[in-house]
Amino acid sequence: MALVDTHAHLHFPEFAEDLDAVLERARGAGVTTMVTIGTDRETNPAAVGLAERCPGVYATVGIHPHDAAEATEEDFAALERLARGSAKVVGLGEMGLDFFRNLSPHDVQERVFRRQLGLARQLATPVVIHCRDAHAETLAILAEERVGEIGGVMHCFSGDVEVAKRCLDLGLVISLAGPVTYKNARALPDVARFVPEDRLVVETDCPFLPPEPHRGKRNEPAYVALTAARVAELRGADPEILNAAMTRTAARLFRLAES
Ligand SMILES: [Zn+2]
Ligand SMILES: [Zn+2]
Repeated sequence: MALVDTHAHLHFPEFAEDLDAVLERARGAGVTTMVTIGTDRETNPAAVGLAERCPGVYATVGIHPHDAAEATEEDFAALERLARGSAKVVGLGEMGLDFFRNLSPHDVQERVFRRQLGLARQLATPVVIHCRDAHAETLAILAEERVGEIGGVMHCFSGDVEVAKRCLDLGLVISLAGPVTYKNARALPDVARFVPEDRLVVETDCPFLPPEPHRGKRNEPAYVALTAARVAELRGADPEILNAAMTRTAARLFRLAES
């Protein structure tokens, strides 16, 4: 039973000491494929380098909304170089809007987001969207930029069924992370039941947001199996059948070679 962790940050320093053991535990849990997500100038080349070295690990490159204010012309050029330069790069992102932490001004976040959507269109590569406390604004931009023609995933989905419906209408895949396992999961159980299985994937967003019962510790790809199991339970679905469907959806989203 194979599973894909569609959103990890394996190249982050939290994994520097024991990456081999982390990857081995992932494979032991059936997580055979992972996408390690770049976020800025430093982490993008690190993500690609790690994917190049590790079988089953793919990468994306992007500028996170937190880092939007720092983005230079050279950073956009580097994104394009990295995306074109490695077959292991399967998408652009993470990119989007974060009006919760507000580490970059809103107008700058929007500009950097749109520019990356344009680049993804040019490169014909899917996008990984980060959206926190900015659903209306993010969805408006995605509609204007016709993201359905590009393809992409709303990562660590945090909205309700209404927002999920609008994401689906835009052609996006929805990715659920550890919070769907939490006691205070709010609308996420409803979302887990609502999204059709051919539009649904799971992720860890590790080292952040570990699912139950690992809250408060470092997250890692092996734990995506716990999130997948909770989603199957919420849907009343056979876990093996759901996992197979989510793996197919992830493979289609990122155009991963059948393995
Ligand atoms: Zn994110
Ligand atoms: Zn992330």
